[in-house]
Amino acid sequence: MYDNILQKLQTERRLSGSEYKYLLETDRYDEELNVAARNKAQEIFGNKVYIRGLIEFTNFCKNNCYYCGIRAGNKCALRYRLGKEEILSCCRRGYELGFKTFVLQGGEDKHFTIEILCDIVSAIRREYKDCAITVSFGEMSAIEYEKLFKAGANRYLLRHETASPEHYAKLHPVDMSYENRMRCLLDLKRIGFQTGCGFMVGSPYQTVDNLVADLEFIGQFKPQMVGIGPFLPHKDTPFGHFPPGSLEMTLKLLSIIRLMEPNVLLPSTTALATLSKDGCERGILAGANVVMPNLSPQIAKNKYMLYNNKSSVGAQDAQALSVLQSRLDNIGYTISYARGDYN
Ligand code: SAH
Repeated sequence: MYDNILQKLQTERRLSGSEYKYLLETDRYDEELNVAARNKAQEIFGNKVYIRGLIEFTNFCKNNCYYCGIRAGNKCALRYRLGKEEILSCCRRGYELGFKTFVLQGGEDKHFTIEILCDIVSAIRREYKDCAITVSFGEMSAIEYEKLFKAGANRYLLRHETASPEHYAKLHPVDMSYENRMRCLLDLKRIGFQTGCGFMVGSPYQTVDNLVADLEFIGQFKPQMVGIGPFLPHKDTPFGHFPPGSLEMTLKLLSIIRLMEPNVLLPSTTALATLSKDGCERGILAGANVVMPNLSPQIAKNKYMLYNNKSSVGAQDAQALSVLQSRLDNIGYTISYARGDYN
C-alpha cells in the first residue's frame, strides 16, 4: 500500500484525499518518502540551497491571531519598527554578504501605509536592480498589492494558515476571515507575484483531514513558494499551553509538497530549526531548498517573537553565514547565491 502510494505521488504528483490521509497517518518510518523528495529537489536544484535575507521590519500588529506572539493583545511584547534607512542598511549588509533576495516581513502595522511601504520597496528596487524583493505583510486590498508590485516587489508570502474554514475560525478572532485570506492569495497570483502560501503543522485543533485539505489546496492553487513549519507555543498567547507540532509530521509534509510541486521554492523554516537542533538540515534532507537567514538589526533581535525560544540562522556578518555554509557542508550541500526565482 505504502509503496504504491509513494509511487503514484512520484509519477502523478497528486493523490486522492484518502491516499494523502494514509500517508499522513501511517506510523511507518518515512525515510523513503524523505529520500524520494530529496532526490527530486536535487534533480532540479542540485545540492544547492537558496538563501533569502529576512528583514523583520515591525512587530506592531493590528491582528489578534491566537497563536502569534506579536498579536495586538500581547501587552508583554516590546514593540519596535525599523525606519526606511534602517531597512536599507539591512539590505546593504545583506548585499555585501551575497544575498540576492530581501524578504520584508512584519506584523500588520498600520504605520506602514501603502505609500510608505511602496516608497521603501522602490528605494530597494532602485539600489539593487539585480535582487528579488519579497514582501510578507499580511492582508491588503488588490489595489494595494498592485501598487506594491508596480513599486518593484516580485514575491509575496502569505500563509493561508489552514485550508479549512472551520479550523481557520478556531485560530483567529471573528474579525479575520478565511475568505479574505483566500481572496488575497488569488489577487497576489493574478497580479503576477511569485506567491507563497503555507500553514503551521500541529496548530491547535488541527486534524489530519485539515492537513489533507491543505495539501489539496496546494495542489489546485499551485503556489510558487510554500512556507510550512511546526506550530510552537508562545506563553503570552491564548495558545500558550498547547504542545508544539511534530518534527516528523513537518518533514513528511515537506516531502509530500516537494513531490507534488517539484519546482516549488520550499524553505526549511526558522520554526523547524527552533523545534530541533538539526531541524534546518533535516528539512533540507526532506526536500526543502531554501533557508532564510535573519538580516534584522540587533534592536529587532529578540522582539520579533512569534513563539518562544525562536532560533535564528543569523547573517549579522560573514561569519554567521559561514556557520550556515559549514552546516550545509556536513550534509553535502552548498549555498547558492543566485536570485533563485521560480521556474
Ligand atoms: N503578518 C504577516 C506575517 C506573519 S508571521 C502575515 O500575516 O502573513 C509569519 C508566519 O509565522 C505566520 O503566517 C504563521 O504561520 C507563523 N507563525 C505565527 N505564530 C506562530 C507560532 N506560534 N508558531 C509557529 N509559527 C507561527
